[in-house]
Amino acid sequence: MVRITKLLTLRLRVGSVMLLLALVPMIGLAGFAGKEAVDIIDRRAELNDVEAASEELLVFVALEAAVVDEIYWSGANRIISSFGIPQGFVTAAYGFDLEDELLEAQQEVDQFLAQAGDSQLTQQFNAARRDSADAPLTTSSLSLFEEEVLRPLVDSKTIEVIDMAAGLEGATELVRTTQLLDRSNALRSTLVDLITAYFYVAVFGADADPAAARQLSDLRANYDRGIADVDGLVEPGSNIDDSWDALRSDEATLSLLRVVDTVLLDPAFEPVVQGDELDPSGLGNLAEVFNSADEAATTHEGLLEVVATDLKAEVETQRSAADQRVWFVGSAVLIVSIITIASAVISTRSIVQPLTDLANVAELLRAGDNSASVGVRGPSEVRTVAETLNEAVANLRRAETQALALADGRLDDLAEEEVATGTLGASLATAVERLRVSLGEREEYRRRLAHEASHDGLTGVPNRSASLEHLQGALARAQRAETDVAVLFVDLDNFKQVNDLRGHAAGDRLLREVASRLIRSCRDGDLVGRIGGDEFLVIAEPVADEDEAKALSERLLETVCAPFDDGDGDSTPSASIGAALAGGRLKASDVIHDADLAVYEAKEAGRGRTAFCDDEMRSRLLAEADLESAIRHGLEADEFSLHFQPTFNLATGELDGAEALLRWEREGVGQIRPERFIEFAERTDLISEIDSWVMRRGLQHLASWQDDDMLSSLHLAVNVSGRHLLRGDLSREVRDAIEATGANPKLLTVEVTESALLDDFATAAHHLTNLREMGIQIAIDDFGTGYTSLSHLRRLPVDILKVDRTFTSNLHRSDDLSLVKLVIETGHLLGHEVTVEGVEGVQQEDILRGLGADRLQGYRFGRPMPENDLRGHLGRAAAGTLNSIGRDDHVDDEHDVTDPGEADAANVVDVT
Ligand code: C2E
Ligand code: CA
Ligand code: CA
Repeated sequence: MVRITKLLTLRLRVGSVMLLLALVPMIGLAGFAGKEAVDIIDRRAELNDVEAASEELLVFVALEAAVVDEIYWSGANRIISSFGIPQGFVTAAYGFDLEDELLEAQQEVDQFLAQAGDSQLTQQFNAARRDSADAPLTTSSLSLFEEEVLRPLVDSKTIEVIDMAAGLEGATELVRTTQLLDRSNALRSTLVDLITAYFYVAVFGADADPAAARQLSDLRANYDRGIADVDGLVEPGSNIDDSWDALRSDEATLSLLRVVDTVLLDPAFEPVVQGDELDPSGLGNLAEVFNSADEAATTHEGLLEVVATDLKAEVETQRSAADQRVWFVGSAVLIVSIITIASAVISTRSIVQPLTDLANVAELLRAGDNSASVGVRGPSEVRTVAETLNEAVANLRRAETQALALADGRLDDLAEEEVATGTLGASLATAVERLRVSLGEREEYRRRLAHEASHDGLTGVPNRSASLEHLQGALARAQRAETDVAVLFVDLDNFKQVNDLRGHAAGDRLLREVASRLIRSCRDGDLVGRIGGDEFLVIAEPVADEDEAKALSERLLETVCAPFDDGDGDSTPSASIGAALAGGRLKASDVIHDADLAVYEAKEAGRGRTAFCDDEMRSRLLAEADLESAIRHGLEADEFSLHFQPTFNLATGELDGAEALLRWEREGVGQIRPERFIEFAERTDLISEIDSWVMRRGLQHLASWQDDDMLSSLHLAVNVSGRHLLRGDLSREVRDAIEATGANPKLLTVEVTESALLDDFATAAHHLTNLREMGIQIAIDDFGTGYTSLSHLRRLPVDILKVDRTFTSNLHRSDDLSLVKLVIETGHLLGHEVTVEGVEGVQQEDILRGLGADRLQGYRFGRPMPENDLRGHLGRAAAGTLNSIGRDDHVDDEHDVTDPGEADAANVVDVT
């Protein structure tokens, strides 16, 4: 079993396994057939043996009969010759030649001896024949041979045959026939002995030899027993039965037996030889008996022959039965083999082929080909499997079709597709449904994303990219139609404050309101988009000209800037608008850039208004861009320098300070005043570079003055722009510059404009505190132009207030005078020094002295001048030889003659 399992796990093809199984009965059959064949061969061999033995037996039986004949005839001859009876007498009287008969008998014996082929036996017999020629009648050596050699031989042969036959299965008939043969032979032999014994007694008389008489009597009884023996064996109705009946009713035998009985029973019986006399009449009777005896012997031999023939026939029957069995077994084996092979073939066709088909389809399925189907045939189990497989494959196909429909997004087709059955179908249906839902969701999500991607979540208007895309399309349309597009950049003013002060929700409400107001004031087809926190873009097409664009812009401003109640109190939005016309340009970014510049201009110009980007603005801006690169170039090319304007200490009467003022000798242009570029630089990061440069250069000057008798105690004031103060790292920069130059920070004053402080009070205070901690003094420049509250001023780290020169020039006006007075008093109140700048005349000086100013600066005490001039200027002032500071100084840089102060400067009188 284990082996078969092993065999099956060898991945044998099912056909081979089936064949093996089919061949199993063949093995049994072969075993059976083999055994049968062996049996039959054995049986045939046994039959052959029986046949050979019975043939041999027949030869010996015939030999014995012939020997008995010879004994019989030789005895007769010896009796005749012993009584001197001529042979011719017997022949003439009884019709047969004794010598001829003997010769015949002898020939027969020789013939059977030769047939028996036993040389020892032949020798024994020939010796017995020679001896018997001159032996007395009773003790014939032939008789001895017959009794002691031949008879036991025949007996043993008979027993041999019977044993053999008895060993044969179903050979009872054969055994019986053999026994019959033995009994018949015994009967015949008894008869011959009886005849011999009779003749002896009949010739010599019972009295002459009583032993012979007894022997005759015994033989007679033996004969009757022999008859009974044979009779018990003969089957009534058989062909032996006929011969047996013939023997029983044989007249010769019956008469022989009668004469024997007479000899034995008749007391009057007279032997042929009485004394030495031979009775011739007795001899005649004897001759008659002789004839009967001969006939009787022949009859008995005849029975023997019939039995022998029957035996032979019986052996033949047995053999043919064996042969028939061979044929039967052979045919049976053949038929069973044919049936087995046929059934193997049929089962192969009916089971293996369908299974192979199944396997092939399964193989195709595994390879991903689900187009195949398998024929439904074979046994019911295989048919069930095939049907199931076909259904499964069909299901797979349907599933595939569905999957393909799904993959192609043909969701509607899916409803019409044939749906797969079973759990697969259910799973698929679920999957389809889920996919349908998720695809739907995805589609919805995509739409939403697309909308979100192009629209502003807060206001719902197109976002920046969508607006730009729209503008791009509008520009193309305008070019084709030869019309123009207006782009308006709407920027809310102070939106940060709305967020900071009123919260983001209010900011959001404001943005939504502005968006809807913009949409309301546009035409259909115009676009309102949100492109930044508080920046909207309005694209209007077509527009005829600048005027129409400006009109639109005004309309938008009017609508946007109307007050509105957002549910949390009234508010009034404000916006600046930069407008531009496409003017045939195709790049959206160019037009947007123009609008962007314009809105910057609008903001600069004071907010709540429209600026239009026209050619003038563009060229101005271009010039500014030009200026920027020129400044950068100038810084690198050392076109800048510092001039110094002295300050007059009212308490000491000395020029003990100077303010560094920047001068630019622009290549190819000449000297340019700070107003022309500082204000511009302050709009960009350039101012930081400039301020840094000034600080470094100023400190270099200050450091170099340390060893100069005239300048060593001079204070230096350096201007720092508000933008630089708030955005840069001023304190570190100043510290680095001080370290680098070795200047004394106590002699440095940093001037910061009041407006810069207002922009980001905390940051400014932080940096100024740092500077002050280094010993640097802080001055608030242009004081009075801003609106610094007293509380702020109190908290600022400030040392000096510089009253702006616009007040100085109008000191004759009482309001300006009282303002300056107020500043001076307030400054002093807070512990600050107060410097007044723009002092050109002596009256101004007197007034300011009267008002208690600490320090004065102006043309009255010296114009801004190069360092070289400063030394002489200070020297002259110290020596009291400085008659007119302004006049001496007037050779300096101030080429701009429109400067109102310059004309007055000529009238500056000597301070001394
Ligand atoms: P500011 O700081 O108020 O400088 C004083 C300005 O008044 C100087 O003009 C000076 O020439 C002018 N001035 C002085 N005395 C008189 C006078 O008696 N009458 C009249 N009418 N004017 C007088 P400047 O040099 O043209 O500078 C103009 C402005 O440029 C300065 O005003 C300052 O704000 C800025 N500035 C000058 N140099 C620098 C600098 O190095 N850095 C920075 N950030 N700004 C500077
Ligand atoms: Ca200044
Ligand atoms: Ca000033």
